[in-house]
Amino acid sequence: MSIAQNIVQLKTSLPQGVTLVAVSKFHPVEALWEAYNAGQRVFGESRAQELSAKQKVLPEDIEWHFIGPLQSNKVKDIAPFIHLIHSIDSLKLLAEVNKQAKKHNRTIRVLLEIHVAQEESKHGLSPEECKELLRDESLAEFQHIRICGLMGMATNTDDTGLIREEFRKIHDLFIELKETLCKDNVDFKEISMGMSHDYPIAIQEGSTLIRVGTSIFGEREY
Ligand SMILES: *Cc1c(COP(=O)(O)O)cnc(C)c1O
Repeated sequence: MSIAQNIVQLKTSLPQGVTLVAVSKFHPVEALWEAYNAGQRVFGESRAQELSAKQKVLPEDIEWHFIGPLQSNKVKDIAPFIHLIHSIDSLKLLAEVNKQAKKHNRTIRVLLEIHVAQEESKHGLSPEECKELLRDESLAEFQHIRICGLMGMATNTDDTGLIREEFRKIHDLFIELKETLCKDNVDFKEISMGMSHDYPIAIQEGSTLIRVGTSIFGEREY
């Protein structure tokens, strides 16, 4: 099937309230155009340089999401246009996003990345670290960011029971925060989880943003 067919089929299968982030990293601009022409407007990238290069040449009505590990010194490159950063994993990074957002007279929406997978290599905050961050007094000074929810990745495994358990942990934490530390935050409503191989489970466990690459664009060339 073509990229356009993949997009249309995937989108029509999604329940209301779930947004498709088309993960286009490592794919050429032509592939993004094909998705765009099939109606896709939300794209996810994981490298600042690649994202900036694509943003410059593609239409302005695209919503760009940053989903990969983000170095503080790269925030300035995406700050002028980024719609949502999924991968905040420290207060230091949040401070930098706030600083760059202010420079551009913007408010930048972010998600806190939660580590629940068994692989050590995966990024993110433990649930405890996440709460610690949300309790930090300096947060109140960050007027140019909005914390809109959580993001997480399950272990890369065929064990669907384990994947479900990990997504459920993220959802449970989201509910807990919504009732406690984030109860006055009206923006706190997104849960970004689910990739090509596990998004159906993620949706069952409460995802509002699925990040799908391979099932749309095919295998990536590194
Ligand atoms: C690459 C990537 C995806 C998409 O993965 P696919 O398996 O290609 O769907 C989703 N989320 C993150 C954080 C990624 O880096």
